[in-house]
Amino acid sequence: MSTVDLEYPFQKPERGSVTEVIPGVLWIRMPLPFRLDHVNLWLIRDDNGWVVVDTGMFNDVAEATWEMILHDVLKGEQITTVIVTHMHADHIGMAGWLVKRFNCQLRMTGGEYRGCQDLLMLEETMLAEKVGFYHRAGWNQEALSNLQNNYGAFKSMVHPLPSTFRQLADGEQILIGGNDWQVIVGQGHTVEHACLYCQQLKLFISGDQVLPRITSNVSVPSHNPESNPMGGWMMTLYKIKRMVFDNVLVLPAHNECFNGLHARLENLLNIQYHLFSDLLLFLRLPRRSIDVFQCLFGREITMSDGILLTMATGESLANLNYLIVSGRVMKSQDSFGVDWYQATRL
Ligand SMILES: [Zn+2]
Repeated sequence: MSTVDLEYPFQKPERGSVTEVIPGVLWIRMPLPFRLDHVNLWLIRDDNGWVVVDTGMFNDVAEATWEMILHDVLKGEQITTVIVTHMHADHIGMAGWLVKRFNCQLRMTGGEYRGCQDLLMLEETMLAEKVGFYHRAGWNQEALSNLQNNYGAFKSMVHPLPSTFRQLADGEQILIGGNDWQVIVGQGHTVEHACLYCQQLKLFISGDQVLPRITSNVSVPSHNPESNPMGGWMMTLYKIKRMVFDNVLVLPAHNECFNGLHARLENLLNIQYHLFSDLLLFLRLPRRSIDVFQCLFGREITMSDGILLTMATGESLANLNYLIVSGRVMKSQDSFGVDWYQATRL
């Protein structure tokens, strides 16, 4: 199922550029060194400077881009608060750098702060459980060796966080420059992802929860292998539809700003329900999680595909665990310790 027609009121900006969304709200197109080559960050005018929402990955390009923005765009004005939607490196990477530079407050949900600190401290010790997790998913020896050889990158992409932060809570209103921004917390992409909604300005900062041209990665994490993040992600889409008016301009973390929030939410849910139907038909015969890539993603993903294989495996498991929780799929393990999934009923 294709995406719906959405309205994109701005041209696609250059990487590293700054665009005014409305007076007092700026859009930074921060470069990323991946196929998804940018992340969108937001600056909101505050009484005594600017609040930044999300920060980019910690690397030389991000540092140079921030130096340019601080000098040429903010012209020496202060950053008053750093808000981070969630703990992924492209969002949180430069947060510690900015907080240190401006001696300002870091605001994020407790789950995301603790999750990030745990990963920064415990990443090495998590390798063994990751290898077991991907072995059960059906990865071969080549893919498991690649995982071990390329492991431990998170720390290099995230500047150390400050040791204190101020927790964001679901439903909380944050006053920024005379306008209330409501925190809307969701699950599925990460454990406690924060979106920000300003009814007065008709703006909705959706982070990675709602994206216009791509779908959010929703993955089962290796340290919580029986979890059901897809259920949480879909519940959050319904929650946003209940809480946020359709008249907003959506400011997403990837792609471009768009109008048509409710149409996109319905579209994302429809895509997901169709995928469940296709998957259930495919699971008339027992399959491993690596066997369902073609069915879910419409393309082949091989054991040499590195990070793409990791994301596809996590997302396949998110779909399979959802169907297990809803009683429509059973899991069993073979004598090699690999998990197989089969539909119990169609
Ligand atoms: Zn993310």
